Amino acid sequence: MDKRTLEAVRYLGYGKHAVDDQTLALIRDSFENLERVAKRRIVYRIFELKVLDEEHLNIEGLEITSRNLAKNMKGCTQVVMLGATLGVEVDMLMKRYSLTEMSRTVVLQACAAAMLEEYLNNWQKSLKEEMTSQGYFLRPRFSPGYGDFSILHQKDILGMLDCAKKIGLTMTESSMLTPTKSVTAVIGLGREEVHCHEEGCESCSKKDCIYRRN
Ligand code: SF4
Repeated sequence: MDKRTLEAVRYLGYGKHAVDDQTLALIRDSFENLERVAKRRIVYRIFELKVLDEEHLNIEGLEITSRNLAKNMKGCTQVVMLGATLGVEVDMLMKRYSLTEMSRTVVLQACAAAMLEEYLNNWQKSLKEEMTSQGYFLRPRFSPGYGDFSILHQKDILGMLDCAKKIGLTMTESSMLTPTKSVTAVIGLGREEVHCHEEGCESCSKKDCIYRRN
């Protein structure tokens, strides 16, 4: 199984070996369908960052109160802000199947989530190379809604990056991103040599790391 299939299996709640052939075939088929329609779009910018104290940060005038984020970004002086989406076409595909094949829609949901994660991880690898050549080290991606980083900051990120105009990414009144398979996040940039796990602190073995966000 490749990495994104494993991810999709995990999102579906199966253990690595417990997944049946029929579900695996559905996963394969779903990825093929998604590859046909998904548009991988991203917009990002680097902003000045000030970590003011244990729970306050300022990103180019945007004030954020979050202990988890301030801990994770301690020592960073810049931050990458990003918005990314697989596009409205993926939502349309899921909607089409939701009328006739609910089980396929559930698998599509899981595969789309895995595809978005894979896309971001790959993008982040090239960002890491670029930043390392400039003497910066990346902290993990950190999205609004995680820990005490308020989901309401999604709106600030969308606005600061002009996501609606640039990649068609907006949000509803209840803070749901639309298209649904989308993400907003920030990534701290610091001079201290920290080698973060690409999948974030939850997958990182450095349990005693002082920047660990949880
Ligand atoms: S725990 Fe790992 S991923 Fe998290 S900040 Fe520390 S080194 Fe980075």
